[in-house]
Amino acid sequence: MKAGRLLTPFISPAKGIVDVPGSKSFTNRALICAGLADGTSVIENFLMADDTEAMIAALEDLGVLVIADENGGSLQVTGLSGPPAISDISINARLSGTTSRFIVPAVAVGRGKFTISGEAPLMRRPFHDQIVALRSLGANISELGEAGCLPLKVDANGLEGGTIHVSGEKSSQFASGILMAAPLMKNGLTLHLEGAVVSRPYIELTLDVMRRFGAEISNPADGTYVVSPTGYQPAEYYVEPDASAASYMFAAAAITGGTVRVNGLSRSSKQGDIKFVDVLEDIGATVHSGDTFLEVSGGPLSGGKFDLKDFSDTAQTLAAVAAFASAPIEIEGIGFIKAKETDRIEAMATELERCGVSVNRSQNGMVINPNQWALRSAQVETYDDHRMAMSMSLLSLRVSGIEILDPECVDKTFPKFFEVLESLRDNNDFFSGTTPVIAIDGPAGAGKSTIAKLLAEHLGVPHFDTGAMYRAVTLACLDAGLDVENVQAVALLAKKIEIRVGSRVQIDGVDVSERIRGIEVGQNVSAVAANSLVRTILVERQRRWAIESGGGVMEGRDIGTAVFPDAALKIFLTATVDVRAKRRFDEKSDQSLEQVKKEILSRDETDSSRQDSPLRIAANAVIVDTSNSTIGRTVELLGMLFRSEVIQ
Ligand code: C5P
Repeated sequence: MKAGRLLTPFISPAKGIVDVPGSKSFTNRALICAGLADGTSVIENFLMADDTEAMIAALEDLGVLVIADENGGSLQVTGLSGPPAISDISINARLSGTTSRFIVPAVAVGRGKFTISGEAPLMRRPFHDQIVALRSLGANISELGEAGCLPLKVDANGLEGGTIHVSGEKSSQFASGILMAAPLMKNGLTLHLEGAVVSRPYIELTLDVMRRFGAEISNPADGTYVVSPTGYQPAEYYVEPDASAASYMFAAAAITGGTVRVNGLSRSSKQGDIKFVDVLEDIGATVHSGDTFLEVSGGPLSGGKFDLKDFSDTAQTLAAVAAFASAPIEIEGIGFIKAKETDRIEAMATELERCGVSVNRSQNGMVINPNQWALRSAQVETYDDHRMAMSMSLLSLRVSGIEILDPECVDKTFPKFFEVLESLRDNNDFFSGTTPVIAIDGPAGAGKSTIAKLLAEHLGVPHFDTGAMYRAVTLACLDAGLDVENVQAVALLAKKIEIRVGSRVQIDGVDVSERIRGIEVGQNVSAVAANSLVRTILVERQRRWAIESGGGVMEGRDIGTAVFPDAALKIFLTATVDVRAKRRFDEKSDQSLEQVKKEILSRDETDSSRQDSPLRIAANAVIVDTSNSTIGRTVELLGMLFRSEVIQ
C-alpha cells in the first residue's frame, strides 16, 4: 500500500503572506558557475531540495567545496578555478534533469574519464540533442545504455569551442548546459539555437546567472549567443524565490477567492513561470505587483486558451485551477512536457479524471472541461513527479477526500510545500463576522437530510430543513384547492400560514410531518419552489429562524448561495448519479432503478435551471462527495471542518 496524505479543504478563502523556496533553476545554474569559478562564492536563499542536492553532490565529486552556513541560509562554494580535472569518476545525477544536462558539458570541457548516470526515471529522459551538439565540438562521448540516454561516458580532453547549432525543441536545458560550459572552452563558443525553442526564458535566465559570475556573452542575432573564453569569477549571489513554486500559492488564492502574497518576486522577474500570473489575471484574478512581492486575489474564474510553451512548469497548476473555472481552459504549446518527470499531459489528465474532471488530451496540450458538480474525492497518483503532487493538492482546497499518494515527492523542489499551503488556511474564529450557520446544499439523493440532522445532533445545534417549508406551502395549497401555478395566490397563502420546522413540522399548529412527504406534494413542490414571491417570503423566515436560534445546520438548495452567502461553513454535498439513484431506489421500491435515475436527473435539471435561486455550488463551498463514504464518516468530516480541525 502506498502512503497517502489526506488533505482538509479550506472553509474560508486562502489568505496570507508566504515565502517560497529559492528557484531551483537559479540555484543549480549558480552552483555550476560557482563550482567552476576562480575562488569562493556565496549563494543566498538557495533551494535545498532533491535536485539541488544532486547538483551539490555531483560538484563535490568533481572536487568543489560546498559548505552550508549554520542555519542553512547560505552556501559557500569554492570553485575549481577552471574545468574539472580528474582521473576516473562516476557521477550520479539521481532524478535531476538539470544536474545531468549541466554536468555533462561541464565535464566535457575538463580532463579525465567521467561516467554520468542517474535513477531509472532520469535514464529514460532524452539526451540525444546534447550528445550530438557536444560531439560536434569534438567531445568524446559514449552511450553506455540505450542510445540517446544516460548513462554516458565522457572521455574528456578539453574543448576548443567554435560554432555549434543546438536544437531547442525538446529541452532548453541542453543549450543552457553547453552555454554554461562555454566560458571554459579554449576559444569560447558561438551557439545557434534551432527549431521552435521550448522554455526560451530559461536561456535568458542562464545568461543572467553566467554574467553575474563574470561571463561575457553577446547576442548579435535572435537565437545566436557568442560566449567569450573568460572562465568564471566568484560572486555573491541571491537566489530569487521560485516562480513555479509560487504558482501553487497564487493558484490557491484564485481557486478559493482569497488573497495570497509571495515575498521576493515581481512581475519583472526573469523566470518564465512568472507569466503564470498573467494567465490568472486573464481568467479573472487580480494581480498586484510590488518591487519585492507579488500578490494574487481570486474572483470568479472564466475559461480561455493559453499557450504555455514558455512557462510549461505551470501547466499542471493551471490544469488544476481549470477544474474550478466556469468554462473550458485549453492549454497548448506543451507537447514536450510528455518527456518530463513523467508524461505530464497524460498524468494530469488521468488524475483530474479520477477527481471527476473531464479532460481532452492532444499532442500539444489538453482541454479541461470544468464541471464542479462532478468533482469527486479520490486517491491521486503522483508518478514521482513533484508537480503532480503539488498541483493536484490544489483540488483539495475545495473538494473533500483528496488523498495525495507518495506526497514526499514534493521534496524534489519544495520540501515544505504542505506546510506553506496549510499556512494559507484562514483560522478565523468560526463565529466572528459570519453567520453561525452551516449551509448544506446539494442535489436530490446526496444525503443532505440524514447528514444535516446527524451533524446538528453531533454538534448540539439546531437543524433546519428548508425543503420542509416548501413542502408545507405546497400541502397548504393542495388542501386549499389552489392551483400551484397561480403565483400570486400561492404567495398570499405562504404569507398567511405559520410554518414550524423542528423535529416535527406544523402548519398553523397542526402536525403535517408525514403528509408533506406524500406523493402529491412531491409532484408539485418544484412549481412552488420556483415561485419567486414564495421564495422571498420563505427565505426571510429562514434567515430569522437562524438568527433567533443562534445558528445551526441549515439544509436546502440555496442556503450557501442565497439564504446565507456568508455562512461560516458552506458544504455542497454530492454523489454520483448512480449512487444517488441507488439510495433513492433502496428507500422506495415502487419504481425501477432506471426510473429513479431518470427522475433524479430531471430534478437536478429543474433545480439547477430555474430562474430564481438555482442550485449552484457557492463560492467557497467545500464539495463533499459522499459516493464512497458512510454517513458516519461524512458527519465526522463535517464536524471536523466546523471545528476548523485539520486531518492529521
Ligand atoms: O429537500 P426536499 O427534497 O425536501 O425539498 C423539496 C423541494 O423544495 C426540492 O425539490 C427543491 O426544489 C425545493 N427547495 C428549494 N430550496 C430550498 C429547499 C428546497 O427550492 N432551500
